[in-house]
Amino acid sequence: MKTIGLIGGLSWESTTDYYRYINQGVKAELGGLSSAKCMLYSCNFEEVVRMQKAGEWKQAAMLLADAARKLEAGGCDTILICTNTMHVVASEVQQAVRIPLLHIVDTTVESIKRTGISKVGLLGTRYTMEQSFYTDRLCEHGIEAIIPDETDRIRVHDIIFDELCKGELKPASKAEYLRIIDRLRARGAEGVILGCTEIPLLLKQEDVTVPMFDTTRIHADAAVAFALEAVAIS
Ligand code: GLU
Repeated sequence: MKTIGLIGGLSWESTTDYYRYINQGVKAELGGLSSAKCMLYSCNFEEVVRMQKAGEWKQAAMLLADAARKLEAGGCDTILICTNTMHVVASEVQQAVRIPLLHIVDTTVESIKRTGISKVGLLGTRYTMEQSFYTDRLCEHGIEAIIPDETDRIRVHDIIFDELCKGELKPASKAEYLRIIDRLRARGAEGVILGCTEIPLLLKQEDVTVPMFDTTRIHADAAVAFALEAVAIS
């Protein structure tokens, strides 16, 4: 089994789900008392959010690249950045190490393609919805992303940072997200990407009638597949 390196804490509310899903995935495949070989570098989210707000993406890239190097030195075989937003610096993180970075957009694209859908709504932080790093990568793989209008983008973003990343799950915010998803559907979205690793804490597939792509789950499952690929227990 290969060792998975997690850059987490962004926020830790969703990192706990990564850890659970990865261990459940390994147990489901190997059975018994099997669990995942993994290492977690848990960042101070406050520090990263301050950099995001100040647009200090270079500093953020350095911080995450340093975490990736530590995970590589610790013996990890792959790196996961356990958040969609910080994939804005994915190429800098990849350049810092020799082991492969498992990109959250690429794993999500594979999952979308399996459904035959090509037009999806995207919910995430304003960075994820508005900067091109995410939607361009989807587009390169033939997936068109529809994002909410500005008022709704602010709503989605604020709920993420003011509530979900603090572990607060409010029915009113869930209703807001469902309203916004309905508007995306009216504009042609055939599915919806939960492109923020905390949104799946609030929304589940049974809440929506279109296919929902839970990036936390998809990314964690891809890590399990990587770790177990062509391997006997080792
Ligand atoms: N975890 C969230 C995401 O997937 C937001 C946290 C962050 O800003 O990194 O984008």
